[in-house]
Amino acid sequence: LTRLTEIERRCAENKLRMTDQRRAVIRVIAEARDHPDVEELYHRVRTVDATVSLATVYRNVKRLEKMGVLKRHEFTDGRSRYEITPARHHDHLIDVETGCIIEFRSPEIERLQVEIARRHGYQIIDHRLEIYAAPIKCSGKQQSKEKRS
Ligand SMILES: [Zn+2]
Repeated sequence: LTRLTEIERRCAENKLRMTDQRRAVIRVIAEARDHPDVEELYHRVRTVDATVSLATVYRNVKRLEKMGVLKRHEFTDGRSRYEITPARHHDHLIDVETGCIIEFRSPEIERLQVEIARRHGYQIIDHRLEIYAAPIKCSGKQQSKEKRS
């Protein structure tokens, strides 16, 4: 099943009428491989259907979020960013210089979180891990120093 037909199926389940505008929004969402905000989605939707307004994109995104199709994130800049709710959980590493978002999955971290929660008498229902990081810039000097030790 493609992401597009999967979202269309979910919309039908939720009795959402499939208009041309909604189809354009969904198509763009299904094609996104990054974490766009509503404005970014709007610009992409406009290349598919120029009649779609920012408000329409916003409404549809909110609706899809409510349905659990989209997951909302708020990384560094306080803007809401969206991705299709992943079938398999992953966490995010955010490059604070470029805003580039890297998805990763760590079984050790997952295990450790369960352990920490249990130690405090809790069972994890959900979690969110965001690592904010700057790229390591190594000068030639530091590199040769490290090699010697
Ligand atoms: Zn993600």
